[in-house]
Amino acid sequence: MNIPFFSSSVSDDPLTRRVHAQQVRLLYAQAPLGFIAGLLIAPMLTAMLWNVIPHPVLLIWLALLETTLLIRLALTIAFRRCANADNEPARWATRYTFACAASGCCWGGTLILFILSPSVVYDAFIALVLGGVLMSGVLTMTPVPMTYRAYAMPLALPPLLWLLVQDDLMRAAMGAAGLLYLLLVVAAAHRYHQTLTQSLRLALSNGELAQSFAAAKQQAETHYRQLIAALAEEERISATAQRQQTLLAHASRLNTLGEMASGLVHEINQPMTAISLYTEVGLAQVRSGALEPAEIRETLEKIAAQSTRASAIIQKIRRFARQGQSQYAPVRIDALLNEIADFLNLEAQRYAIAIHYDASPDLPAVLADGLQVQQVILNLVRNAIDAMNDSQGAGLIAISARANPNPGAVEIRVQDTGAGLHPDTVGQLLHPFFTTKPDGLGLGLSISQAIVEAHGGRLWAVPNVDRGVTFHFTLPLAHYAEPSEPVAPVALSVETTGIRL
Ligand code: ADP
Repeated sequence: MNIPFFSSSVSDDPLTRRVHAQQVRLLYAQAPLGFIAGLLIAPMLTAMLWNVIPHPVLLIWLALLETTLLIRLALTIAFRRCANADNEPARWATRYTFACAASGCCWGGTLILFILSPSVVYDAFIALVLGGVLMSGVLTMTPVPMTYRAYAMPLALPPLLWLLVQDDLMRAAMGAAGLLYLLLVVAAAHRYHQTLTQSLRLALSNGELAQSFAAAKQQAETHYRQLIAALAEEERISATAQRQQTLLAHASRLNTLGEMASGLVHEINQPMTAISLYTEVGLAQVRSGALEPAEIRETLEKIAAQSTRASAIIQKIRRFARQGQSQYAPVRIDALLNEIADFLNLEAQRYAIAIHYDASPDLPAVLADGLQVQQVILNLVRNAIDAMNDSQGAGLIAISARANPNPGAVEIRVQDTGAGLHPDTVGQLLHPFFTTKPDGLGLGLSISQAIVEAHGGRLWAVPNVDRGVTFHFTLPLAHYAEPSEPVAPVALSVETTGIRL
């Protein structure tokens, strides 16, 4: 049998279950107030009627009533001691409701007292006591409607109905007023019960809300901590990648210098030989005694010029071989090209290749590490020389710089008239260690791409219409962009859409 102990039917909704548990808890919490009425008022009524009602009747009635009170008291103690009482609210509500129904029946037994009472004055007194008991009992039981109904109906109806059917107008009026009083009490209890249920529901929802808010806050804090740790880790990895890239770029520069060594030695050798020759000439002039100051000055000036030339080449080699952290600063492309033109020409001349430069001094400055950009250009030029080495006809390399149509960047191009790109290898050009040369390392392009991307630019190649290939790369303008985080060369990606890399 499913007894509707609660105003809302028994539900699987966790909130409703908690509301029911709280209602039952309140029912038992207020129970002691109900006992006071029973314990004090019933003996008092007995005493008042002692001389007019037969004693056995009074004593049996009192004993039965106090027994039901003791049962309710025992139930209340048991409930308080039960650890998981909140898990079975319906069961505890049922027990207490039966006990209250028994109390109500005993109070309803006052019908016998009405029947045996000698006068309407006694009836009025008994009715007054019953009214008070009804009121106090119902008020303490409002958390569970079935409980107060099970208590109030057997308590009030038998005496009231009996009063109503009496011929005595006074008694009938008392019965009618009592019925009205009963209805009002039950209606008020119902209203109070609904308000209480809503308050409980609201309080528990707020509690749940506060709990989920606290949980969400804790979760957010955990995520925040994880994010901070991840960022620190990313920063560490990025710093390591930057260090490795700098080291790799430096190693690559040293390798380039090593490969250019014979040309560089030749280049230094020339002024040294000239110095030696001019020195011989000077000495001969001194020995012959024909000391013409003008001639000696001219010879010494030639020696000084050749020594300056040799020293300039050595300075450039030293500068190119140095190792250092990336230093971004506004630089002009034409100035960068001027600085390494000697190097580039030196390499090209060995293979009878001409280099044509086209970089206007009016181009805006880019934000770059000059040495690294020169390294990229040198890599591209050396590749171009290699590609033209075997090809027929006079080789020409064109290095140009112009404002990129994509605003905020300068685009540098290195165009050759070499063998061009093989379709099978296009997609692999930027892969580290990819090379088609017997003595190649396969790092030049991947390092160049890493450097360009670290500057916030892009590197790509486009086959020329007639022959050869043009490598393009962009660098952001100094006032426009910031360099991005450097990328480790192994993480490079290659764009292979269309005929571009
Ligand atoms: P390496 O020069 O040591 O081979 P790179 O990374 O500089 O390493 O070049 C990778 C490959 O790309 C080269 O081996 C070559 O096959 C190809 N390549 C690079 N530049 C050119 C070019 N200008 N023309 C034709 N092929 C080129």
